[in-house]
Amino acid sequence: MNAKLYDKLIFEHSAPGRKGFSLPRNTYSHHIGEIASLCRDRVDDLPEVDEPTVVRHYTNMSNNNFGVDTGFYPLGSCTMKYNPKINEELAAGVKGLHPAQPASTVQGALEIYRRLELALCEIGGMAEFTLNPFAGAHGELTGLLVIRAYHASRDDFGRKTVIVPDSAHGTNPASAAVAGFNIVEVKSLPDGTVDIDDLASKLDDSVAAMMMTNPNTVGMFEKNIPAIAEMVHKAGALLYYDGANLNPMLGIARPGDMGFDVMHINLHKTFSTPHGGGGPGAGPVGVRAGLEKFLPTPRVIKKDDGSLYVERFNDSSFGSISAWLGNFTVYIKALAYILSLGRDALSMAGQLATLNANYIMHSLDDLYKLPIPGPCKHEFVFDGLKDKSTGVTTLNVAKRLLDFGFHAPTIYFPLLFHESLMIEPTETESRETLDRFIEVMREIAREAAEAPDKVKEAPHDTPVRHPDDTEAALHPILTWKQLCDKPTAS
Ligand SMILES: *Cc1c(COP(=O)(O)O)cnc(C)c1O
Repeated sequence: MNAKLYDKLIFEHSAPGRKGFSLPRNTYSHHIGEIASLCRDRVDDLPEVDEPTVVRHYTNMSNNNFGVDTGFYPLGSCTMKYNPKINEELAAGVKGLHPAQPASTVQGALEIYRRLELALCEIGGMAEFTLNPFAGAHGELTGLLVIRAYHASRDDFGRKTVIVPDSAHGTNPASAAVAGFNIVEVKSLPDGTVDIDDLASKLDDSVAAMMMTNPNTVGMFEKNIPAIAEMVHKAGALLYYDGANLNPMLGIARPGDMGFDVMHINLHKTFSTPHGGGGPGAGPVGVRAGLEKFLPTPRVIKKDDGSLYVERFNDSSFGSISAWLGNFTVYIKALAYILSLGRDALSMAGQLATLNANYIMHSLDDLYKLPIPGPCKHEFVFDGLKDKSTGVTTLNVAKRLLDFGFHAPTIYFPLLFHESLMIEPTETESRETLDRFIEVMREIAREAAEAPDKVKEAPHDTPVRHPDDTEAALHPILTWKQLCDKPTAS
């Protein structure tokens, strides 16, 4: 491949007067009269390029990209699984709809919306769901606003605190802060689960809610949920379930049955919407019986005659979290996924995700340090290589994996360990892919012992090798102009 061609920006391919199109002469300008004088005859600063250059430029750029469609992507806490392409085709079927269309003209779309809500109620063990939030973090905010509305409805205005485990995903404390709460951290035990004694010391009538992730961020099932639920409820607070990664729980256990009051699900992790790169996603929120009336509007309501309408406002709701009904194409993919798998296969997905994670964990725990012995759920965490004497870090291992064509696992998260390496294989990977990954991880451990510099200097084969992370964070070059203006672009 011509490296020069594919290293350049599209602007750098520009040559004055070069075009990739030819349009017939405009013979209608007299029809637009006055407006014609406002039209520009040239647009400055757009690249002037021929069609083959454009096609090659973007095709080569896309080849630089890494995705689930190009290789194994074991990024922990992200569920980067393969999503069936047929669901994309189904979702594309509604691209002609407008959210402001009268309900009578979109009965089918509203039916899809309502059926997905009901399916998620069944999966989560909740009384009611809203699909409106656009992402997991947005769902957390929605859930916390429901919780705030609940306490306010009881004139209980003193509850200003949300308890979050120290292992929580960063969005939990962030969402609680955005919803206007103070955050109190609860400690984890060495096995990664919530420290109940620490929790007891922090529960009082200033607490509005406790947020929990299950399986938690180290991939362990929180065994003490019944006791925690009882403690939290006794203190008058509600229990929130971060179900962003619901994969291993599908069809096996339901947050509603465990005593959770409010939960969110990431459709763009578990339910057939690819993610990364900014969306679109969806973070539906479920509530137990008694909290339905606080859910945000608009809501899709079924009338007695079976027809559906969109309720824009109601007095008990905390308000709106999105214009219209959210990211609709994501719902189609999720419903198609749920219906095509059905109850049995859905629980099979969770079991395979768990089996795959345990398989990798046990195949590597002689060479990589396993701080929390399994069994794990859909993911687990190594604390770097077992042999620390080589000086090879988790970052080095992650970079070396790129040379073998794998995406790196999540690194240095969770913060519970110094050299966290968090692996989530997901259920869609074959035995052969898992075996190849295990073989490469073992090979890297061998290299670390025999030729550590080879690992420390990785990656060797990627188009960009060692960007300066700090410089990139402090002085990001985000526009072409900035690049040109830079005195000594190296
Ligand atoms: C991904 C994730 C979130 C946030 O979801 P977004 O859609 O990225 O906002 C929250 N909690 C956990 C545990 C997650 O893995």
